Amino acid sequence: MSDVWQQLVELVRDYYHTKDFIPLHAPVFNGKEQDYVAQTIDSTFVSSVGTFVDRFEDDIATYAGSPKAVATVNGTAALHIALKLAGVETGDLVITQPLTFVATCNAIAYCGAEPVFVDVDLGTLGLSAQAMEQWLSNHAKLGADAVCRTKKDGKVIRACVPMHTFGHPAELDGLCKVSQRWNIALVEDAAESLGSFYKGQHTGTFGVSGTLSFNGNKIITTGGGGMILANEATAARAKHLTTTAKKAHTYEYIHDELGYNYRMPNLNAALGCAQLEQLEAFISAKRALADNYKSFFQGSSMQFITEPPECRSNYWLNGVICEDKKQRDELLESTNSRGVMTRPIWALMNHLPMYQNCRRGDLANAKWLEERVVNLPSSFK
Ligand SMILES: *Cc1c(COP(=O)(O)O)cnc(C)c1O
Repeated sequence: MSDVWQQLVELVRDYYHTKDFIPLHAPVFNGKEQDYVAQTIDSTFVSSVGTFVDRFEDDIATYAGSPKAVATVNGTAALHIALKLAGVETGDLVITQPLTFVATCNAIAYCGAEPVFVDVDLGTLGLSAQAMEQWLSNHAKLGADAVCRTKKDGKVIRACVPMHTFGHPAELDGLCKVSQRWNIALVEDAAESLGSFYKGQHTGTFGVSGTLSFNGNKIITTGGGGMILANEATAARAKHLTTTAKKAHTYEYIHDELGYNYRMPNLNAALGCAQLEQLEAFISAKRALADNYKSFFQGSSMQFITEPPECRSNYWLNGVICEDKKQRDELLESTNSRGVMTRPIWALMNHLPMYQNCRRGDLANAKWLEERVVNLPSSFK
């Protein structure tokens, strides 16, 4: 093993003060988690009714500066409903990045729509506004009805879904401009970026809606859970659709449209309230850990991934860009064989069997990153 891998393993082991296996990301419960969860059990309100769901929604909305927030059973469900409410229907196209977690594309497919893969920017790892503009000017036109359609077969391009990779905000000014110009709904997959701000504004609040995830590996967790950030009217629709579309009534069961059982249980929301109280402390610790890595890689042939200009990133998952695939494989091999968990970035979505025939632009940056990016242990002490 070359010196540099030995030194990297030592840096990680020093930080965590352990000779045991070191995971990529583990949750930390340092606050009132036990207390709040016990309260739901004592009250018997562990399921679909209870005060912690309302409180968690209000607390997240306040933190993110969103008019409203609607809690869901997971982040994928949140994105599914957000896309439906953005008007995505069977047969539509939705622009997204090929470099993402599969849930982004699955939510599009649940609507009966198809993803269109457009390249990412090297500086943000998020959807490129320039590449999106390029793809649209090559393939789309705005109709007299102001609907954006493909020139070739008249498919409606209804929405676009940028994803804030590892917590680093995508270039939102550009993405807002392009989606407005083409009359395409902007829905942000902010699953990884709770606590990340673009020019002082929280990610997930730039478009018609944005979604969060509180899965066990995210910056804060509810066990499993998600959230839709939106304005009052959209949030009211989201609440209705995620709670089986039941109309309020003292005793009758009236469901006025096809709804979903996507509600977050009170038990999970209790955990979320306790976690959210610690979010800023978590982010400070993560940023300090990221600084360690940044210093380590300074002057090496590898490039540590840092927050884009004018952004504050939550540094949810640390990542480094290797020189080439050979160096990437060496890093993965030498760390994992020593009980320090590192992982390559996701395989591009257009390489998965269910999305391999989707439309796509030139994906040179995504391909380049796919061969080089490695995620490093990112929990904090
Ligand atoms: C975690 C994640 C989601 C949602 O995941 P759930 O497990 O359904 O909460 C969606 N998109 C991205 C990019 C994610 O990382």
